Amino acid sequence: MDSRIIERIPWRDFLYLLLLLVTLGATSSAHARQPLELLESVGHYPLTSQLEYLEDPNGKLQLGDVFDSDAFLPPLRGIPNFGFTRSTYWFRIPLTRSSDSTETWLIEIGYPPLDDIALYLTDRQGRTLYEARGGDAHPFATWPIEHHHFTVPLPIPGNEQSWLYLRVQTEGSLQLPATIWSDVNFIESMRGAQHLLGLYYGILLSMLLYNLLLYTSIRDSTYLYYVLYIGAYALFQLSLNGLAFEYLWPNATAWANRAVPFFIAAAMLGMIKLARSFLQTATQLPRADKVLRVCNTAFAVLAVFSLFAPYNWAIIPATASAVIIPIIVFAISGKMLLRGHRPARYFLAAFGVLLLGVLLYGLKTFHALPTNLVTEHALQIGSALEMILLSLALGDRLKVMREEQERMEREAKLMLEARVAERTAELHHALVELESANLTLKERNTIDGLTGARNRQFLDDTLEAEWRRAHRDQTPLSVLLLDIDYFKDVNDNYGHQCGDVALQRVAATIEGLLHRAGDTLGRYGGEEFMVILPNTSLEGARALAEKIRQQISRLSLEHNGENFSLTVSIGAASIVPDAPASPEALAELIGSADAALYRGKSRGRNRVELAS
Ligand code: GH3
Ligand code: MG
Ligand code: MG
Repeated sequence: MDSRIIERIPWRDFLYLLLLLVTLGATSSAHARQPLELLESVGHYPLTSQLEYLEDPNGKLQLGDVFDSDAFLPPLRGIPNFGFTRSTYWFRIPLTRSSDSTETWLIEIGYPPLDDIALYLTDRQGRTLYEARGGDAHPFATWPIEHHHFTVPLPIPGNEQSWLYLRVQTEGSLQLPATIWSDVNFIESMRGAQHLLGLYYGILLSMLLYNLLLYTSIRDSTYLYYVLYIGAYALFQLSLNGLAFEYLWPNATAWANRAVPFFIAAAMLGMIKLARSFLQTATQLPRADKVLRVCNTAFAVLAVFSLFAPYNWAIIPATASAVIIPIIVFAISGKMLLRGHRPARYFLAAFGVLLLGVLLYGLKTFHALPTNLVTEHALQIGSALEMILLSLALGDRLKVMREEQERMEREAKLMLEARVAERTAELHHALVELESANLTLKERNTIDGLTGARNRQFLDDTLEAEWRRAHRDQTPLSVLLLDIDYFKDVNDNYGHQCGDVALQRVAATIEGLLHRAGDTLGRYGGEEFMVILPNTSLEGARALAEKIRQQISRLSLEHNGENFSLTVSIGAASIVPDAPASPEALAELIGSADAALYRGKSRGRNRVELAS
């Protein structure tokens, strides 16, 4: 890459700011007051170790007072740097150019925070050929060339020595990275530098917008802290390299100075809030969190303070913190990672590349590393990579959050399923119990308590059901009605209890004679029983009735040692139903059996009679 472009990297400005902390004392080098001969073939002269200088503690001296003064000191090595000083400084250098060249020469002052710069081009005798004023104490529109670095054309006469005098006064650090350019060189180097600037701020802006969008949809304040960090950081950079003064607040001459410490403080505030929120230091690392909380408050105070306090009081702690805080965050991320907090990886990497960038650039600046593409851009690459890695960290956070949510949903679903299954099983169990209870209850409801035979209700229901079946199948349905003869006498002679026992014996005897599955014995009332015989003809019914009659007549019952026996009369009826079941039809069937029974009674009892 063209080394001229390197001169223009915005990070240089920041480095000057940092270097100032360590290079307050610079050594002087031997100098010659030979004029600097400007050649078009070179086209590019960084004014390091070239400018004689003079300190003016009161800032009262005019060009006339200092011109050709012997009080000027020999050039300092490297870029002139006087740190935080109240003094005004004068610089000078003699220049010549050949008369047959046509190029225009320019001088560029690469440190935009300077407040007031007066530039004088004079001839040998001190007559002013050209003068210009700039620095951020003067509205941007009054600068001779609209460029974020104060840049001034130098109409140097050919073949004649001229003097360049610069008077610089500023709050904050006073340093003068100046370069003399030929017009062609200036334009060519600017083009590349603009691309780099565009790329750099493009990355920062896209990261900012992306995370701002994420914040609007997720409402997780971590994203907002990132936006605060990157936004303040970008504005700090823009302020430092003069682009903010050029484009954002070209007339705000007072604010232009204060913007730098203000945005450093705001960026540090965002960085700390981001780190606390992302690393969850409050719960994970309470002691470190306490430190961060203190820093958090300190930067909030510093941000406000920087708006009205003396500039130097704000810029010094702000600059120092810009190095210290990333180290603290880096250390905390490392500790968190050691503790197994996986998201800390990205933080460690982000602040690692940032600090690595600072380190590489520092080593290059002190000539411990060669100057090449990487070391020259180390700070820029470092900070851009940092922002990208932090954005990745936040993207990963999104993933972790989604996985966590899915896990919780899965668990909730499993739990729900388990609970549903449990409930279903319980319900099923209850149902089974209920069913069996119901069955028992139903069974009990159909049984006659005394004899264990079916009850009257069951007989009615069964008769109706069997009627329907017989009607459907066109099979005969028979009914026996059975009444114990002279049962009153049993009660009278042997007691009611003995009568009950007799009833039980009769029921058991009949039950013992029923072999077909469909046959049903029930107590019809008092000492009367009914037998329902599906698919049985009248003849079959008669035969069964006869068997019952005989079996009962052979029963031997006993009371107080006295034996007695019983007889029954039975009426039988049968039908192949030609009509559906109805109360009338059923009553008619029972009625004819009843009629037969009473015929049996009247014909002498202990008889089986068939319905006609
Ligand atoms: P018949 O040959 O005409 O049927 O003479 P009977 O004495 O059996 O006359 P009836 O059928 O009118 O008498 C029914 C008697 O059965 C009346 C009642 O004392 C007796 N009885 C009815 N239910 C029970 C019962 O649950 N237990 C006892 N011990 N006796 C009952
Ligand atoms: Mg009776
Ligand atoms: Mg009777």
